[in-house]
Amino acid sequence: MPAYDCIVIGRGLIGSAAARHLAIQGSNVALIGPSEPRDRKTHSGVFGSHYDSARIVRILDTLAHNCQISTAAIERFRPLEKETGINFFQEVGYLAASNNPGFLEDMGAQAKDYYPEMETFSSQQLNERFPYFQFPKDVRGIFQAKNAGWLDPRKNIAAQNKALETCGGTVVDDTVVAIEKNEKYITVKTEKSSFKCKKCIISTGAFANIGNTIPCPIDYGVVPHTAVLGEISKEQLPSLIGMPTMSYRLGDEPNKFLYFLPPVEYPDGKHYAKIGHALGNEMEKDKQSLQDWFHSYGDKEKIPWLTEALKELLSSVTFNKFHSVPCVTTTSPTGGNYIDQFEDKRLYALFAGGGYCAKSADELGYISAEFALNNHFPSPYEKKDFTLIYQ
Ligand SMILES: Cc1cc2nc3c(=O)[nH]c(=O)nc-3n(C[C@H](O)[C@H](O)[C@H](O)COP(=O)(O)OP(=O)(O)OC[C@H]3O[C@@H](n4cnc5c(N)ncnc54)[C@H](O)[C@@H]3O)c2cc1C
Repeated sequence: MPAYDCIVIGRGLIGSAAARHLAIQGSNVALIGPSEPRDRKTHSGVFGSHYDSARIVRILDTLAHNCQISTAAIERFRPLEKETGINFFQEVGYLAASNNPGFLEDMGAQAKDYYPEMETFSSQQLNERFPYFQFPKDVRGIFQAKNAGWLDPRKNIAAQNKALETCGGTVVDDTVVAIEKNEKYITVKTEKSSFKCKKCIISTGAFANIGNTIPCPIDYGVVPHTAVLGEISKEQLPSLIGMPTMSYRLGDEPNKFLYFLPPVEYPDGKHYAKIGHALGNEMEKDKQSLQDWFHSYGDKEKIPWLTEALKELLSSVTFNKFHSVPCVTTTSPTGGNYIDQFEDKRLYALFAGGGYCAKSADELGYISAEFALNNHFPSPYEKKDFTLIYQ
């Protein structure tokens, strides 16, 4: 079998985007990664952070760098949907609501340059505009109506993979177990096969340092997240139409910082509203600890608190049932993302250091493809902002 120009390891949101952008530029690409486990509770392999149906999309952010990346990524959502016929983006808007003025100032800090149409709501205006949310009296809000809402990560990956194949790329449903190198080629060994390539991008999320897929351990953290999903009957949905996604912060206690997703149809055909905590402490990131976490229902102590918070926020809604799920976000010491070469310059790291990169994945994939193919960072990005830190 001839060698690929490039193999991307990790079929998550970011790796899938990187592979498509490589193929668009004419590179002969294979994207290797396992599909979502059929049974999360018994799965003994690697896991991803994309086994869900809704992730918040927003441009509003504290940092200009993040606004730049998400703006560029979001611009490509509709063209990708059109090309593939897979709709993954719902433009229902994004609300940041808080009684902490500092939080709203931070979230709106870049709006002048990246979303000048941002709306500001007093407590009363919030209640009038979003009558289904019950906020304490001192809560105010800022709102992004356009290019904001939520994306379905499963469908986004399906669209990326379909577009990759249309460009002549190859999708391999397998797990990488080792990388071997000689002067001529890199050999990527999987559970079922092996493939040769000239360059290789490693984008394996929380499992980055696990196994023999990475030449040298990188410095990152893994934060466990518990989300609670409340099932909402179809009869109640018409009164909730237009409900936005939300970051919701009461006071400045980290554990009062929540995120919220409106009712979304999941693969079981039911509609769930979702609530989760935005911050958390790092966990051990060895394979066993990660697997144990993904086999669980999340943090038992957080489940009642999140359930109550969801009920309070949507107090006019009757929920049929609640269930909880585990997930992880990845962090880097600087909060930045890694797009960089290892010592062997044929090997690249592509890693989300911010924990909110579903919305930005397409642009991170694009930047890494440009770097791997053309050895430069496309304007306005600078290499120094994506420097890899080793463990
Ligand atoms: C609860 C929760 C809520 C979130 N909310 C938001 C949000 O609202 N908005 C937002 O923008 N982001 C959000 N995120 C973050 C977002 O989901 C992540 O930033 C994103 O999934 C990171 O993409 P990734 O491709 O780096 O990693 P992943 O999506 O985890 O993908 C990594 C892939 O690598 C594969 N892999 C691992 N090891 C191997 C191997 N050895 N061989 C082959 N493949 C391998 C895995 O199977 C997986 O498919 C949230 C995350 C969580 C957990």
